[in-house]
Amino acid sequence: MPTSINKKTCALKGKISEIFFSIQGEGIYCGIPCWFVRFSGCDKNCPYCDTLYAKTGGSFMTSENVLRRIKGNAPVVITGGEPSLQGEFLSALLTKLKGRKVFLETSGSMQLSDAGAFEHISFHAELPLSSDDRKFIRDISVRAFTLKIVVTSAAKFKDILSAARYLGKFVNSSIVLQPVSIGKKIDKAALGKAVLFAGRLQSVYKKVRMLPQIHKLLDLK
Ligand code: SF4
Repeated sequence: MPTSINKKTCALKGKISEIFFSIQGEGIYCGIPCWFVRFSGCDKNCPYCDTLYAKTGGSFMTSENVLRRIKGNAPVVITGGEPSLQGEFLSALLTKLKGRKVFLETSGSMQLSDAGAFEHISFHAELPLSSDDRKFIRDISVRAFTLKIVVTSAAKFKDILSAARYLGKFVNSSIVLQPVSIGKKIDKAALGKAVLFAGRLQSVYKKVRMLPQIHKLLDLK
């Protein structure tokens, strides 16, 4: 890489909300010890957002600053906020993390230029899937990916079924139905729906799991 680009990449700063070590508490890699790098900033307004604090604020850090905070060899989860909004910094950080397993959690606000660099991508979309969501799914399908659907008591099975039919086109896809949590508690009505929907979905889409956020149940970060 030319020196000028190297210098630019080194000087580039991203806005980071927090960096911490914990277990992965949601999705198909649940239970794996990981470092979490939470990007700051988000352009979505999910009514059940549990990381409102990451929508604003944070500290500017270079990818070297981030790397210095990450010890050992555990995988790294890049989450938010919405990481894709800081695409240039995300690319710089991925360069530094080469050799590690890196997972991405995204709401797909912006196109990803580095989808192939991730071990796995968890894409959280509101249903029904929009044409932009479908394009994002096509883009990330170069890697194994999960569509994370947060199930609320108002969730409609027809929307989940339609998303599953679309995901059926991608061999490396999976679906996680995640019952919404209110604070640290899982919403009981949502949990009932998520279990019911997971069962019904299996006849058309096998790779579906119903998984609550276990870090909340365990009172972990
Ligand atoms: S995408 Fe994530 S951070 Fe943004 S509003 Fe939704 S839940 Fe909150």
